[in-house]
Amino acid sequence: MPESSPEPTAPNWPVIATILGVLFVAFGLIYGLTQNVALTLSGTLGVGLALAIGWWLGTDTISSVLERKNLVGQGSTAGTTSPDGGGEVAATSLVRDAVRFARAAIEATPNPVLIVDSAGRLVGTNQASRDRFSIDAGQIRFSAVIRRPNLVDAVSDVFKTGVTRTLSIESRVPVDRYERVSIAAFEADQERFVLLSIQDETEARMSERMRADFLANASHELRTPLAGIIGFIETLRGPAREDAVARDRFLEILHLQADRMSRLISDLLSLSRIELNEHVAPTARSDFAAAVQEIVESLPPDKQKRIQFKAGDDPLWVIGDWDEIQQIAANLIDNALKYGGAQSDIRIVLSAWLDRESALKSAMREWDGASRLPLTSPEVDRDRLYCTLRVEDSGPGIARQHLPRLSERFYRVEETATGKSGTGLGLAIVKHIVNRHRGGLVVESEQGRGTAFSVYLPQPLELGPVRTMAEIQAG
Ligand code: ADP
Repeated sequence: MPESSPEPTAPNWPVIATILGVLFVAFGLIYGLTQNVALTLSGTLGVGLALAIGWWLGTDTISSVLERKNLVGQGSTAGTTSPDGGGEVAATSLVRDAVRFARAAIEATPNPVLIVDSAGRLVGTNQASRDRFSIDAGQIRFSAVIRRPNLVDAVSDVFKTGVTRTLSIESRVPVDRYERVSIAAFEADQERFVLLSIQDETEARMSERMRADFLANASHELRTPLAGIIGFIETLRGPAREDAVARDRFLEILHLQADRMSRLISDLLSLSRIELNEHVAPTARSDFAAAVQEIVESLPPDKQKRIQFKAGDDPLWVIGDWDEIQQIAANLIDNALKYGGAQSDIRIVLSAWLDRESALKSAMREWDGASRLPLTSPEVDRDRLYCTLRVEDSGPGIARQHLPRLSERFYRVEETATGKSGTGLGLAIVKHIVNRHRGGLVVESEQGRGTAFSVYLPQPLELGPVRTMAEIQAG
């Protein structure tokens, strides 16, 4: 505000027309950026208020503010002082503030925004667009930044007609990317500009595709045993009606298929329940050693005999839900028993109070010639200590090329899974539980030697040994 307000002057139609023009531009700009009517109206109102005060103070030079062609990003934001002084300086400075506000809003918007002038030059960019297209300082041609003939055509079309358009663009290199571009024209200082706002839709498209794949896989997995059940029922009602031996055999198969369907459904339900809660980290404290011990003791004696595991006397606390950490142990031990082969010995090792680096070492750097891969990792947190559970078998091992896909839903390695009754969801469930617990899951495997899956989960420091972090890190 100025120190003293001059007398209001009579309305000046060119000024009013310019104010309306600026309001129109502001509306278009803010709507193009936010796509939010409420935000747009309040933003435009702010610009309007600034202009109205400026007019009331007696300025007629607002259009000068828009003379700068580099509306955002590449130009200096420093205002110029009007030589006329007084109310006009105050008014232009208010309008300049409004323009600065629009400039800051464009700069901060997470969507890439580009502004092109009628000669095809890039006159405005924001941080997101400079990052996305590696745009250097200085004006360059729009067509050199986005080399897509359909987009360049759409921009010149909007220049000609002034009609807003939206366009979807897809790129495959270096990664699949799906974007939606909104292209709108606006007039400033009797010149037409075009504003492009680019929305990244890759994540939405990918998750849509994953959902569709998941549904297709789940229905395929359920349909297979169901088709078997229907076939055997037909046979039992027809040709095998009087054949007692065949009937018993078929009933046995029916039982197996029904059992498989019920496991699949319960695995699917567990997975969706865990996924639903994945963003809520657990707060309970559970003794990992006791949880593993209980799972081992629940196995039939012949299986228990193959397992080497000795829980220590002290509890090994982790920040985790008892049922979920038991599910981790059950799935890994079940896989080791199933895929390790009948002769395989299974070794279960728990190591506690390790920093991240030592946890990774104890989880997957035991076998010299093995292939190893983290399947999920927590965010780096130097103040965390972890408890590692490693379940090791001496089975045939898994070839290196399968490792990255092991925790995908329904993924099974043909050579190891043939004839085994898995659902392909066990490791996906483990991975999601581990993610929820902010832990890690890794695999180490060597063909002919065996496979080891390990998880490491954060531990509650208040229940830990009385040692400082520095002492623990020093080993
Ligand atoms: P499933 O329900 O089929 O066991 P998982 O998600 O638990 O599904 O495992 C995915 C695949 O990983 C299995 O089908 C199997 O091919 C392979 N696999 C898992 N654990 C082991 C292991 N200990 N040794 C060899 N292969 C394994």
